[in-house]
Amino acid sequence: MCKKRKTFRSLIWAGSLSALFLLIRMLPLYKPVPEDPFSGPHWYNPYEHAVPGGRWLRANFHAHSNAWGIVTNGRKNTVGDILCKYDSLGYDIVGISDYQHITQTGKELYIPCYEHGFNILKTHQGSIGARDVYHNDYILPQTRSQKQHVINRLARRSELVVLNHPDWMGGYSQKDIRQLTGYDLFEVLNDFWISEELWDVALSAGKPAMLLGGDDAHNVFKQTDLARDLTVIYTNSDTVTPAAVYNALRNGTAYGIEVTGNLARATVTEKRAGLDAMPLLTSCKIIHDSLIVTLTGKADHFSFIGQNGRLLSKVSDTGNGLSSAHYMLQPEDTYVRVRISLPDSTRLYLNPVMRTGREREKPLMPASQKRWLFTIFDK
Ligand SMILES: [Zn+2]
Repeated sequence: MCKKRKTFRSLIWAGSLSALFLLIRMLPLYKPVPEDPFSGPHWYNPYEHAVPGGRWLRANFHAHSNAWGIVTNGRKNTVGDILCKYDSLGYDIVGISDYQHITQTGKELYIPCYEHGFNILKTHQGSIGARDVYHNDYILPQTRSQKQHVINRLARRSELVVLNHPDWMGGYSQKDIRQLTGYDLFEVLNDFWISEELWDVALSAGKPAMLLGGDDAHNVFKQTDLARDLTVIYTNSDTVTPAAVYNALRNGTAYGIEVTGNLARATVTEKRAGLDAMPLLTSCKIIHDSLIVTLTGKADHFSFIGQNGRLLSKVSDTGNGLSSAHYMLQPEDTYVRVRISLPDSTRLYLNPVMRTGREREKPLMPASQKRWLFTIFDK
């Protein structure tokens, strides 16, 4: 009897230890990355090489096809439907971002993408230049360390990791954004949610997160699902390669467009005409501490925004609109980004110029650091 009880106790212990081991194995532990606003004597300007004479490519990396049948939205769209609609809208790059699945497009300029995440609070990530799918996720509301772990796993398998619609449904809190690292892009513009305020939290904490805009289209037959939020990417080459696209996005030589008002509800043909007629960025230069932004057409006003999302300057013209504006960079400025409102209320969101210690080099995203306990379980 006594021996039996001993064996039973040993089994309970072994079971508890195994459960504890599995629990710890499931709980990634990372140190929070301290806030460290951009600093240094130089300015990194993502548009330094975007000179007149190049082209701006229209891109969308967020559209769902019917890959998952009736399980998710996106059930009405075939890959062919998506490509056809975006072709009609004059897009150069169409990435299909099915959940947990890299979908081929057959396009000459093929960018493999997918959307990662099947948790209840929509803590989602985009994988651009995806080589492989990371099949795990944490279903319940995630800890900051679990979010960090997924980002790190995706970074091993992709050219670029995006925080998708980060402010939507609290997918990422402000505290998360101050402490997370290791991703490349921030989907500031998404049809479901604009995460501009949260982007400033990331930038103010010293995370050089570049902007992405995407439709998150689930039904390309619905006018309001298309060409609402897009990214335009600079190229000065006739032949565009995936590597050039990844570099431009990583370096920030791209900007976002939030299409609003009547154009957001217009037909494909009307939207194509609206996009074709829309002013483009001519240049964004820093000359003697002056940040000068010029467009090919007229804007209603230019907003210069800095540390903690503060509006530093608003330049407008009560007459016919203006095609250029400038702002004197101040010693206390850590980053400055420009948002341009066009007369029809459409907005262009430029990537920030950032202070840096190394001339012409973008500030680095800090490395994530595991806590000691987690290093035992996660090699
Ligand atoms: Zn999503």
